[in-house]
Amino acid sequence: MLIERIYLNNPPLSNFNHIIACEKTAEAIAIDPFDADIVLKRAEEKGWTIKQIISTHEHGDHIRGNKELIAKTGAKLLAHKNASGKIKEVDTFVDQGDIIHVGETVKFEVLTTLGHTMAHLCLYAKDPEPVLFCGDTLFNAGVGNCHNGGDAGALYHTVIDHLFDLPDETKIYPGHDYIENNLGFALSREPHNKEAKELLEQVSKQTPDTRMVTNIKLEKKVNPFLRVHSQALISQLKQDVNQLVESPKEVFLALRELRNHW
Ligand SMILES: [Zn+2]
Repeated sequence: MLIERIYLNNPPLSNFNHIIACEKTAEAIAIDPFDADIVLKRAEEKGWTIKQIISTHEHGDHIRGNKELIAKTGAKLLAHKNASGKIKEVDTFVDQGDIIHVGETVKFEVLTTLGHTMAHLCLYAKDPEPVLFCGDTLFNAGVGNCHNGGDAGALYHTVIDHLFDLPDETKIYPGHDYIENNLGFALSREPHNKEAKELLEQVSKQTPDTRMVTNIKLEKKVNPFLRVHSQALISQLKQDVNQLVESPKEVFLALRELRNHW
């Protein structure tokens, strides 16, 4: 599996696009192309042929380049079945557990990951090492908001009941570069989180183009939304919010609410 990440340099959206190719056939899939020309140019530089495009969800900044990239490559468009009527020109609707092949060597499993929107999917592959392309569901040190067609309760189930159990070494490839800001929020919740402090120092020396790739193990140390069992985080929350925060779900929802206004 060959992975190419492109930073779109479009702050404050700060999208990442990904192209994944088969090392044997050079066939590729483009995930959430924002700018067709930039994605196509990068694929051509690599000698890859874009045969498929997949939209993780229906938001404009994740489907913006679809039409032009389809026109220029003839690629087939895939999206979650719940995106029917929300994303145009979809050739194949997919659902939880469906397998997407790219060339001969790349095999993705579709994960239904509702919450940021109710038509969101992630792509997960086990080989040659576990990787997750997670759109706006899981971010580095954060999670997506639920402002635009989402549901925070659904996001809780996606993140805690499903993504939380992926192997520790699973690499995380989100759709945006939000790590610095997210670590600021993480530290506002857990000022004594040593790993989060060290990570913020480390990423402040990086640029979006050289941004590190985190994994589930690291996220569990620094991402407040994966730390709903942390006693330090819970006791701080109890002091700060005027609502019940006992269960992991209540903790998650209280964090999501605080992050909305942070
Ligand atoms: Zn979105």
